[in-house]
Amino acid sequence: KTYGLNELRKMYLEFFESKNHLKMNSFPLVPQNDKSLLLINAGMAPLKPYFTGQETPPRNRVTTCQKCIRTGDIENVGKTARHGTFFEMLGNFSFGDYFKEEAIEWAWEFVTKVMEIPEERLYVSVYEEDDEAEEIWNKKIGVDLSRIFRMGKADNFWELGVGPCGPCSEIYYDRGEKFSCGSENCTVGCDCDRYIEFWNLVFTQFEKDEAGNYHLLENPNIDTGMGLERLAVMMQDVDSIFDVDTIKALRDAVCKKANVEYMKDYKKDVSIRLITDHIRSVTFMASDGILPSNEGRGYVLRRLLRRAARHGKLLGIQGKFLADLSKIVIEVSKDAYPELDEKRDYLYKIITIEEDRFNETIDQGLTILKGYIDELKESKGTVLSGENAFKLYDTYGFPLDLTMEILEEEDLEVDQDAFNSAMNEQRERARSAREESNYMGSDENVYNKLDASMSTTFVGYTNTDYTSKI
Ligand code: ATP
Ligand code: MG
Ligand code: MG
Ligand code: MG
Repeated sequence: KTYGLNELRKMYLEFFESKNHLKMNSFPLVPQNDKSLLLINAGMAPLKPYFTGQETPPRNRVTTCQKCIRTGDIENVGKTARHGTFFEMLGNFSFGDYFKEEAIEWAWEFVTKVMEIPEERLYVSVYEEDDEAEEIWNKKIGVDLSRIFRMGKADNFWELGVGPCGPCSEIYYDRGEKFSCGSENCTVGCDCDRYIEFWNLVFTQFEKDEAGNYHLLENPNIDTGMGLERLAVMMQDVDSIFDVDTIKALRDAVCKKANVEYMKDYKKDVSIRLITDHIRSVTFMASDGILPSNEGRGYVLRRLLRRAARHGKLLGIQGKFLADLSKIVIEVSKDAYPELDEKRDYLYKIITIEEDRFNETIDQGLTILKGYIDELKESKGTVLSGENAFKLYDTYGFPLDLTMEILEEEDLEVDQDAFNSAMNEQRERARSAREESNYMGSDENVYNKLDASMSTTFVGYTNTDYTSKI
């Protein structure tokens, strides 16, 4: 039976509510009181204070569907079937309550009984020293040993500096020969899209101290994470997350804007998928109050938006198109995330302004970059100078990784160190200028003048410095 993505989210949360979990809303993408993280990248991230005991959870069993951003996966996006920079992570959590046995049993029950995924498609992995987990899978659940893979620390042990940590166990789905990379060793753990990992069960049973010793926790925790989009890929029996009902609606809109057909040309398909993914990230990030800027989260937003805009150009889309696409993101996700609908007009405005700003200079920037590339090729050089990369950034609004991406297509690279020093020099200049004039204009301040509740009265840019800078 096939279920829509929105239905699957509901089914998961209801299943864990039936196991006495408290359903909590997704936390915002911006971490609260956590300086160690730029953006929320997993279901457990915003729950950290409950795991460490810093705060008392509202119940010792919680279930969520958490919006996540993983910029670390940006290179994979559009190229693998399973990675997005934005995705939703389903999770069930135990704060010193149930442990391994229940976590494994319920995961299996959900997958095989509620989702009715055939067991012959499923595999599991356990941490190589975790005999207990293997035994539960084998003896209690009845999974054959040939389907259980023991893996090392890199894959199956979760830790982040000091603090709570522990082994994990992952569930994999075999999508069949058709998706195999073809290598002889293609099996569970292979990086290709045949055996896809879809659920990670983390057994937080240790506390790691400063000296690197592991101590057994008296009340161990459970933290699980399953990608909603990946669950939908399996349940809808489709090729990639970009074929999942809600995301396909967006992908189709991209194709329509570009007037290209999907699955006709690999390069175009990558651009189509990339835009589809990035506009989801952009829309959700902006709905959580992140504004385009040259630093931190704002820079991530800017990078993603501009990267999508440039791929729109590659597809031949004329004029701006991103705000229109964000409408579809809102349409398909607003029931689960009402903030999207509430901030609708505000989001269109943020996205439109940023795309307009980039459009004003992108063509010029691309022409200049093309000139640099020609020069390099003529002189048999391979490295674009940091100065030139900085000029593209500073004058034409090209995020560094955009310049790098375009150069890579020609087997060229950037002198990143020199770029960074140029950047630091500029920061230094800006700081002394600020000190002199007690100047207050960061990009955020400009956007902050946009009041979400009065979005029709936007008065345009008032900060001249901002306008001249990008
Ligand atoms: P992979 O090995 O496929 O990159 P992961 O091991 O990095 O996944 P985890 O950190 O274990 O992923 O996160 C838990 C779950 O979240 C994964 O099993 C997967 O279902 C989902 N997930 C992780 N990264 C992404 C992504 N970039 N896009 C979509 N879903 C993801
Ligand atoms: Mg990963
Ligand atoms: Mg993995
Ligand atoms: Mg994993």
